[in-house]
Amino acid sequence: MSGALNQANVGPYLVKLAFSDDGSPAGHYPADVAAPQLSVLDLGATRGDGIFETISLGNGHLQALEPHLARFAHSAAMLDLPTPDAAQWRAAIVEVASHLVSASGDPVDEGFVKIVMTRGVEGGSGSLLPGAAPPTGWALAAVAPDHTPARRDGIRIVLLDRGYRHDIAQTAPWLLAGAKTLSYAVNRGVFREAARRGADDALFVSSDGYLLEGAVSNLVLKRGQTLLTPRTDLGILAGTTQADLFTWATGRGLATEYALLTVDELRTADAAWLVSSGRHAAPIRAVDGVERPIDAALTAELNAYLHARTE
Ligand code: PLP
Repeated sequence: MSGALNQANVGPYLVKLAFSDDGSPAGHYPADVAAPQLSVLDLGATRGDGIFETISLGNGHLQALEPHLARFAHSAAMLDLPTPDAAQWRAAIVEVASHLVSASGDPVDEGFVKIVMTRGVEGGSGSLLPGAAPPTGWALAAVAPDHTPARRDGIRIVLLDRGYRHDIAQTAPWLLAGAKTLSYAVNRGVFREAARRGADDALFVSSDGYLLEGAVSNLVLKRGQTLLTPRTDLGILAGTTQADLFTWATGRGLATEYALLTVDELRTADAAWLVSSGRHAAPIRAVDGVERPIDAALTAELNAYLHARTE
């Protein structure tokens, strides 16, 4: 984006969350992002046992902050982690975000705040039992990478079998499908698989043939005057960006629908995007090597709206 060059030396900024031994909130404090901050026994590092959120910052405004905090609490509940204290986390997020300004004091054009909460240190007061450990938590603010090429030119995706049926969240809730956990090795691996197949990104499909979500994004289709997205009970993350886009669409006279969608519906859609807090709306220009149309004008409108959000 326009400010990308003069943002290069801004941040990152870090605060650690403070907890008393019983896990109750005790504020936050600044920490050095270049110094070691985590125990090698931290269950987030050793087991991927924790949760996170990434909140976008547009022109200094935290976007969809409250939905992100609500999803953070939902993920915590799914993992039997202590309920995050919304006021404590909100204060930490606002604090790190406030530092993301250029030398002239202007907020950066695009940044993000990543928040992480782990189950804490194993063997100390850390425990597999719910509620027994003080968690580890931090909030980090940084300048966002430049997503202009993906937003403007589109992305080539491949369809990857997730290996689960579409009803996994109901039949096997212990798999934690739909929680935003730190166990993202698979989500990272699919980008490598996509690259091996000559694509930029991937879309998961259930073993019984329904469209799910990207590795770090949700799918939105346009058919006629309707925006569609996979239902949120399919073991996928309920996207904050998708939800904001649906609110925007309603105001613009478009219908919206949560649906069970098939691969054919992706192929025949008038337009399709992978949407997420960081990259916003990336139009899909090819699926498994087959080119498909992108709606450049509508994409620009979606991204202008997403960037301009002030809450
Ligand atoms: N699905 C997954 C698996 C994700 O990791 C993400 C975001 O990282 C999303 C969907 C999109 O969610 P949001 O729009 O709230 O960023």
